[in-house]
Amino acid sequence: MKYEKPQLPYANDALEPVISARTVEFHYGKHEQAYIDNLNRLIKDSEYEDAELEDVIANAKGALFNNASQAWNHIFYFFSFSPDGRREPTGDLRKAIDRDFGSFEKFKEAFVDAGVGLFGSGWVWLSRDETGKLFITQGSNAQNPITDGLMPLLTFDVWEHAYYLDYQNRRADALKKLWDIVDWETVEGRY
Ligand code: MN
Repeated sequence: MKYEKPQLPYANDALEPVISARTVEFHYGKHEQAYIDNLNRLIKDSEYEDAELEDVIANAKGALFNNASQAWNHIFYFFSFSPDGRREPTGDLRKAIDRDFGSFEKFKEAFVDAGVGLFGSGWVWLSRDETGKLFITQGSNAQNPITDGLMPLLTFDVWEHAYYLDYQNRRADALKKLWDIVDWETVEGRY
């Protein structure tokens, strides 16, 4: 199977001023394209050639894992945003957030703290287990909670390439601003 980069459901400048058009062009346009091109090159003639991408992530190692996971993670990340989505969780996900983190405000604080506290490149994740319990986890480099049997709900990219053009070294500022563009209707759909 040959993977293709899906078109974003919004214009490159639609997330400004939180994420600039230039960052979307480089991050989703060029970085993500490179991961997908590498994935297609590495998966060809491998045992995973016809596997679902989630299965590749769960089972592959080394460069194939890294590029498969990065390809998936960036699509998941960019499709969590919208210029005009719902800005707070509701329903069962809201209840689970209140139950497991105390409140939505406390959840946001803990999520950003986990992203800021991750040394080097990686991702911070909100995931659920099979019972619906929520977890905030840090993942270095391409790591994805699928490999731990969790179902991802939301992620923030904390690689420098995600924010350096717009925020330089200010990772905490970059992460806090992302709350202004998260589309909680999409996140709830994953729960
Ligand atoms: Mn990235």
